[in-house]
Amino acid sequence: MSRPPLPRRPIIWRNALFLTVFPVIAVAATVAYGMTVGIGWAEVGAAVVLWWLTGLGITAGYHRLFSHCGYRAPAPLRLVYAALGAAACQNSAIAWSSDHRYHHSETDTDGDPYDATRGFWYSHMGWIFFEGAQGNDYTNVPDLRRDPILAWQHEHYLAVAVATNLILAGLATLIGGHLLGMLVVAVLLRIVVVQHLTFLINSAAHVWGTQPWSKGTSSRDNWFLSLFTLGEGYHNYHHSFQADYRNGPRWYNCDPTKWLIWCLSRVGLASDLHRAPVDIVLTTRFEESCRSLATRMEAWGAHSAEEWSAMLENKREELLSRRDQFLEGLRGGKTALRDQLLATQAKAELRLVELKALRAAHRDGQRRAASAATRELRRATERELAHLRRAIRHAQRSIRATLRGWERLARDYSAGLPPAPAPA
Ligand SMILES: [Zn+2]
Ligand SMILES: [Zn+2]
Repeated sequence: MSRPPLPRRPIIWRNALFLTVFPVIAVAATVAYGMTVGIGWAEVGAAVVLWWLTGLGITAGYHRLFSHCGYRAPAPLRLVYAALGAAACQNSAIAWSSDHRYHHSETDTDGDPYDATRGFWYSHMGWIFFEGAQGNDYTNVPDLRRDPILAWQHEHYLAVAVATNLILAGLATLIGGHLLGMLVVAVLLRIVVVQHLTFLINSAAHVWGTQPWSKGTSSRDNWFLSLFTLGEGYHNYHHSFQADYRNGPRWYNCDPTKWLIWCLSRVGLASDLHRAPVDIVLTTRFEESCRSLATRMEAWGAHSAEEWSAMLENKREELLSRRDQFLEGLRGGKTALRDQLLATQAKAELRLVELKALRAAHRDGQRRAASAATRELRRATERELAHLRRAIRHAQRSIRATLRGWERLARDYSAGLPPAPAPA
């Protein structure tokens, strides 16, 4: 069902330029720096650490704490989240969480700021180019506006973002590397990467993946995305149980944000970790499976009686032809095996006859050597005997190998025979 196009909204040039020009500058600066000065392990390592720190500011802070209240955190931790989240350059916590709460309450409708049914690119970043679906209406985040830390961060968002990035780059430079390299790789480039990884949850995690918990929204579980998004890829579970501090509920689900929150709770920096009750989780999953099955059954039921019998007849013929092919193959294989077995048996018998003849010749030689009339004759007979002994040893080895082969074949052959009748 096609939906009417979105009403025209004014473009926000600041956002549009930031999302188009900034990534070009970041990539060009990284390339230029790499070609002139060279990018070392210090810059790469700092970029990865800052990706994780600012990424967790978004996932553990903006998302699971501020937007969904999946757990409680003391003021110092909220301040750290506010600073790290700002350093990811994805707007203030209040604005981000407001959009996100609308995303959950109005999923896949015009009220959803990043409505995935409007296409991949719209939900990925296109929506940021325009005035929001909800404007700057923050009435859905009264709790966050009351938090003095978040109100302060909202008021001074740009300054907090710049200051945190400069402090992080400065700290990284103290450990190693050059300040300019840190600013280019661990700040500019990292901001672009973390932004797009977050955007992928609004786009890709609403397009690719499974829907084991609910098909009520376009959200998907995508474990592969979770590897790069600190666990946010289990998005179908998250849309079904949004207050759960975990996105991947099972212990083996790659969800580093969940592990961080759990560790923080162990040292008293997080409390009231909310888990969806297991009976409700399992019931939801079971009901979704039943609904999927009912939908499939309905699709089958759409066939007429004639179509059904034609389908069954085709299936039966296919199975019969496959059975015949199988039996044919079995018979052919069996015959070949029996022929091989008989041939090996004949070879073994021939070798045994040869061995018998060699041994008889050897006994005869021994007798002749004992009664040899002259020395020369005895020496010649002994040379003949040595030759015969070598031939006997060779024949014995050959017979053993042939018998081993024969035994293997006999085992294979008898394994395929029907069981022997019980003795009367
Ligand atoms: Zn979503
Ligand atoms: Zn959410």
